[in-house]
Amino acid sequence: MKIADIRLTPLLVPYTKPYYWSQGVIEGAGVVLVEVETTEGVIGYGESVATPSAEAVMAHLRIAASRCIGRSVFESNGLLRDAYQVMFQAYGTCSSPRYAGQVLAGLSMALWDAAGKTAGQPVHALLGGKVRDEIRHFGFCQGETAEEVADDAEVLAAAGFDVIYFKVGRGDALDLETARMVRDRIGPDHRMRVDPNEKWNPLHASRMIRKLADYGVELVEQPCHCESVMALAQIRAASPIPIGADQSVFTPFEAFDVIRAGAADMITIGLHETGGFANLLKIAHIAEAADVNICLHGLYETGITTCAGNQVAAVIPNLDDANQHMTRFLDWDIVKSPDLTPVNGAVKVLEGPGLGFEIDHDNVARAAELHRARNSF
Ligand SMILES: [Mg+2]
Repeated sequence: MKIADIRLTPLLVPYTKPYYWSQGVIEGAGVVLVEVETTEGVIGYGESVATPSAEAVMAHLRIAASRCIGRSVFESNGLLRDAYQVMFQAYGTCSSPRYAGQVLAGLSMALWDAAGKTAGQPVHALLGGKVRDEIRHFGFCQGETAEEVADDAEVLAAAGFDVIYFKVGRGDALDLETARMVRDRIGPDHRMRVDPNEKWNPLHASRMIRKLADYGVELVEQPCHCESVMALAQIRAASPIPIGADQSVFTPFEAFDVIRAGAADMITIGLHETGGFANLLKIAHIAEAADVNICLHGLYETGITTCAGNQVAAVIPNLDDANQHMTRFLDWDIVKSPDLTPVNGAVKVLEGPGLGFEIDHDNVARAAELHRARNSF
């Protein structure tokens, strides 16, 4: 079970159509595939989100990987702690927990995948055991216009998603028209959530939230700048709609501060923010102690992250009943099996060893070629 090799491959998996949110437009999932191979020939897979660039993330992952060779895949907590120390503290830059989390998430996933495969157990079993049999997801409707978002909402509601979620913060008139049209299409019984992704300050949020309440919105995620817990608390104190913290929480310290400030009714968090399983579980425990739910976050990711998220979500008692799911945006995936499409809004807890999936080597080669083609200038 000792780590013999760690390989890194930059990939680009295209989306079926452009992805619109308040910060821009995304064309596909750019990730770095992390492969951890043990002395017994077991291969664990993970992925790190490749922003600002795959090259930048790989440069840091190579430093982290150098600390891991020769050590056990069952030591991921210590390995990741040592990797962070050498990446950001030993050389005097001292602290970069958010970027480090993004870099190290893929290594954490790959180590846990290898550990689970070595033990012949799903990762959730190694984490203490699942407390549920399925993970429930919200229907994430997308589009450039209000009409396109509403069309997608109707499809998702008909597919069995109880909760419909869409991006706002794209202009007040467009946001309100989208909310009106989505509510009209999904009817009064479906739950509705919106996410401005930090685009509103407290004054702007107050104005928009009062209007959105007319459409039965049940949660507004991260309305304001992520670095001001005070602004988030101020918005929540005045809001008729519950408020979620997303980009305000990446670390256990931030989770504690947000909860202590009474700034959020829910915390949205994923493996790419926390740097892997250990810190995500710490944040879930902090939230559990305040009776706050955890909503599993999604980023520009492939099915590898969906499987890793499924494993950790299985063991979180205070998991929300509407979590993010991103594979529907992919034109094709690098996970060959199982099928990760939610059925009636849910994906079963995966029971295969490790993260519980089989990789599609042909599609990995295809995604590597797409990354090369896109970056050959
Ligand atoms: Mg969000």
